[in-house]
Amino acid sequence: MASTPFSRFQSTLTAVLEKLKPTTEERKLLSEPQHVHQTKIALKRDDGTMVEYPAFRVQFNNARGPYKGGIRYHPAADLDEVKALAALMALKTAVVGIPFGGAKGGIQMDPKKLSKRELQEVSRAYVRAFVKQMGPDIDVPAPDVNTTPFVMAWMRDEFEKQTNSYSPAFITGKPMAFGGSLGRDTATARGGFFLLQELIDRQALDPAELKVAIQGFGNVGGTMAHFLHNAGYTIVSLSDSQGGIYSAEGIDPVRIEKYKRKTGSVTGEYCEGSVCDIQKMKMDGVTKVTNEQLLELPCDILIPAALDNVITEKNADRIQARYILELANGPTTPEADQILEKKGIRVIPDILSNAGGVTVSYFEWVQGRSGEQWTAERVDSELKRVMLDAYKAVRRTAYREKMSYRHAAFAVALKRILDAMRARGWVA
Ligand code: GLU
Repeated sequence: MASTPFSRFQSTLTAVLEKLKPTTEERKLLSEPQHVHQTKIALKRDDGTMVEYPAFRVQFNNARGPYKGGIRYHPAADLDEVKALAALMALKTAVVGIPFGGAKGGIQMDPKKLSKRELQEVSRAYVRAFVKQMGPDIDVPAPDVNTTPFVMAWMRDEFEKQTNSYSPAFITGKPMAFGGSLGRDTATARGGFFLLQELIDRQALDPAELKVAIQGFGNVGGTMAHFLHNAGYTIVSLSDSQGGIYSAEGIDPVRIEKYKRKTGSVTGEYCEGSVCDIQKMKMDGVTKVTNEQLLELPCDILIPAALDNVITEKNADRIQARYILELANGPTTPEADQILEKKGIRVIPDILSNAGGVTVSYFEWVQGRSGEQWTAERVDSELKRVMLDAYKAVRRTAYREKMSYRHAAFAVALKRILDAMRARGWVA
């Protein structure tokens, strides 16, 4: 039977629980979400027709604090995927030690097919559907794939209308004009960047000698490309959902960004649709690559920063990078993990690598509740501290328990969740 996102989560969970030896009751609580909310959202399209989209909010665990996690708009965002992502959120908040549980939401649809009015309508309807289940002390949503600060602003506005309240801490990832935090937009990439810097410092490596391939040029992948380029790394490949480019000599992400804005694609400088200017590509030493090819290119650091399930038992053996920094959620399957481990490739797992986003969400929530405004410097330095503390805890556990970094990150997080459940008296 083919694996699913949730079965992949459970497979890693089972392997790590072997070592933690929880009771049957504890194991049960760690293996399934506490609440699954689902409904259908009806939308009147601009042309007058009615459509319905499945919508979900999965609340995995709140032993450590209010449920926390983004809302994803994607055709593949079904219940199984949202469950897996909710579980990963519970572990992510625990691994960085912020006082939240884990949740995730999704609307199963293609937002690229909607007008701005339709998008706003769907976003407000989502809040109305789950208004009783969410709130600043209950469950705090945030952006995820295809949801932007604009969407967060509509959602906060709708929540405040529905509850007749002033609730800046209802949702994070808001625009600066409506209760956002400085540094939230770049936080996921920033957190990953701090980890990578620490990793290469400890290995006495020099950014100038390191080649990086990044899959995904959205908010996370695109921002990471800029940070790495500015720090002296050579970006050899970049891609978006339509494909990417490769240059052994290096790519300037600023240029790519300009063309992406103009043409809608990272290959825009060389190609229009499937027609490419081969001459220009040759002159610049650039070749076109698919998203699958990108993963197998010669490089030192591979950064999957798009969707899940891209590094599998089918391609793991051909990966040439020494390090994989998972900025996407769930990019590597458990089978691929085993192959990568045998090959000596170090994987810095999603729940650690991409935890910068939810960490600055926590800072935004704190600011929303206190009415304070933190400076960019404060956000940056607190984020660095949180990320490096988490990294240290994971590295130590990996070393002590002879585990992969993924298993160590799971172990650190699960232990913290278990401790909170025991302290609350949920389990003996
Ligand atoms: N969607 C992001 C994640 O997967 C951020 C969640 C948040 O800020 O609550 O980590």
